[in-house]
Amino acid sequence: MAERVILNDCCEDWIIEWGPFYDKGMGFSCPECGTAWRAEGEARFRRVDDEQIFRRRDRRAGVGAFPYLGSEDGIEPLTERCCAKILLSQGARMEPGDFTCPVCRTEWRVASARLHGLRLPTFSKRGLHEPLTLQQGRTRTFLVGVSHYSPPRE
Ligand SMILES: [Zn+2]
Ligand SMILES: [Zn+2]
Repeated sequence: MAERVILNDCCEDWIIEWGPFYDKGMGFSCPECGTAWRAEGEARFRRVDDEQIFRRRDRRAGVGAFPYLGSEDGIEPLTERCCAKILLSQGARMEPGDFTCPVCRTEWRVASARLHGLRLPTFSKRGLHEPLTLQQGRTRTFLVGVSHYSPPRE
């Protein structure tokens, strides 16, 4: 089984919004994490360090189109960008129960759990071996498996 290719959210956000403006062959780096990239033309972007290529694609549902960066080898991340974006922005306020992603139709179960003395929202779906929760990072919030959660430092 091929390894999953990890793509930082910050790089994906940057390239989705600003990537199309770089000329083919132009180098740039993500302003948040400093990862070096090169525009390859035709909506393809090469991560300089590991030569991994990502392509800007649209996921279509209804009359909507949701842009994302897909690894060119076709291996999907564990959590789709659409789901991640929604859970990161709205997840903390969601009612417990079922939630279906409007873009990719993944079915999530929203609940909560007590971790390190804190009540946290949890999100599970088929295929994940443990629920995800919201982890406050240094610069932004991201999704982690509940066993990897660490409480924010004072
Ligand atoms: Zn980045
Ligand atoms: Zn989704």
